[in-house]
Amino acid sequence: MKVAVLGSGVVGVATAWWLKQDGHEVVVVDRHTGPAREASRAPGGLLSAAYGEPWATRDAPQQLLKSLFDDNAPIGFRLRARRGQWVWAAQYLRECWPGRLEHNVRPLVQLSAYSLALLRQLRSQLGIDDAAQQGGILNIYRNAADLERSQNLAQVLRNLGVDRRIVGVDEMLELEPALAPVRRRLVGGDFTANDESGDAWRFTTALADHAQQAGVQFLYSQLVTRLVAHEGRIAGAELLGPDGLYHMLQADAFVVALGAYTPCLLGPLGIPCHVWPVKGYSLNFPLIEPDRAPKISLTDYSHKVVYSRLGDQLRMSGRVRLDGYSRALDPACKAAMVAQARQLLPSVLDFENASFWSGLRPSTPSGIPLVGRSRIANLFLNTGHGSSGWTLAAGSGRALADIVSGRIPEPEFPFLG
Ligand SMILES: Cc1cc2nc3c(=O)[nH]c(=O)nc-3n(C[C@H](O)[C@H](O)[C@H](O)COP(=O)(O)OP(=O)(O)OC[C@H]3O[C@@H](n4cnc5c(N)ncnc54)[C@H](O)[C@@H]3O)c2cc1C
Repeated sequence: MKVAVLGSGVVGVATAWWLKQDGHEVVVVDRHTGPAREASRAPGGLLSAAYGEPWATRDAPQQLLKSLFDDNAPIGFRLRARRGQWVWAAQYLRECWPGRLEHNVRPLVQLSAYSLALLRQLRSQLGIDDAAQQGGILNIYRNAADLERSQNLAQVLRNLGVDRRIVGVDEMLELEPALAPVRRRLVGGDFTANDESGDAWRFTTALADHAQQAGVQFLYSQLVTRLVAHEGRIAGAELLGPDGLYHMLQADAFVVALGAYTPCLLGPLGIPCHVWPVKGYSLNFPLIEPDRAPKISLTDYSHKVVYSRLGDQLRMSGRVRLDGYSRALDPACKAAMVAQARQLLPSVLDFENASFWSGLRPSTPSGIPLVGRSRIANLFLNTGHGSSGWTLAAGSGRALADIVSGRIPEPEFPFLG
């Protein structure tokens, strides 16, 4: 069967890889000149079965409200927002009701664990070096209220078999000596030994190379302008090339892996798709003293930022901005994040030469991605991975390839269709 995968982010490339392994003829289309040029370019590096928790939690509405009055709040929502954003926000608030967290976290943990195992397998099978840093992820807390709140989620995760354990300050410093200068600001943490980090861009570009060698065709610099439906099927994808000419790509099946832009193509087909762009930022700090920089990944709960060691750099990422499709870089936000990094890790990072980046997380209100069949027979979705797409890509790609090939995917998950 000929399958067209639309989008060459980490999700599209992983899907194409597995489809090719199943013996299909695969063509990948993207408007950029290479893979992983949007959300998969420089996200936080966390690969975590336990970080796969949704954002919709009981204290999220309070944080949203605060953000209306604080431009530098970790979460930001603009009152001038478009209608679609209000609809998304209303659905998101519904997911914050008590009981929904447990409901939403279970499938995310299951898909994340499945995905991490496949990612490790791919790395070693193909010799991909994505600057992987094993050794766990440590969440740090600066006040008792935050630590207390984290216990609830830690318990939910433990019930699902995730080994997240509470650690005292002494053990935190043993796990990550780079925290010594801020010892007095810490009240405790929790640690998940099986989690790790890696560079999504390095992985995606390497996997795309392997896929190409295996026979996957990549069509870059091609904008997908619409999907053409005929008699209940997708007859083709209309592409606009750099020469200004349109042509029609035909295939037996189409997989939409367009990240935050998915609704732009599904809307005209009347397929509801509650994926909204949620902007976030990352900063890449060169290391001044690599031996004294963090070796394991950290999340700083109070500041809502994460740090991951990627080779000779430390990547900090965070901020949640509901601001439409704008990827504009906010200098005030950069300054605030640099100040937070300086406070936590005062002497090991090169603060002057940090590179700043923004990306759009393709987010659903519940945090659960849309993976599976659409209501059109030969149209499949693999999108809406929000803040966990790097973690979930290998697994949701494998699962979607199973569905296209007529098999039942392994993990327990609410697949579409
Ligand atoms: C600041 C930030 C931090 C993050 N941290 C983490 C983390 O620590 N761990 C984690 O697991 N995840 C993290 N994520 C989430 C993760 O990066 C995303 O979920 C993931 O990259 C989404 O991959 P994707 O392939 O679905 O989308 P994308 O990478 O955005 O790919 C979509 C592709 O579709 C193409 N496209 C769109 N429209 C068209 C069109 N009309 N025609 C042709 N091509 C088109 C785009 O060019 C793009 O290449 C983070 C994200 C951000 C922004």
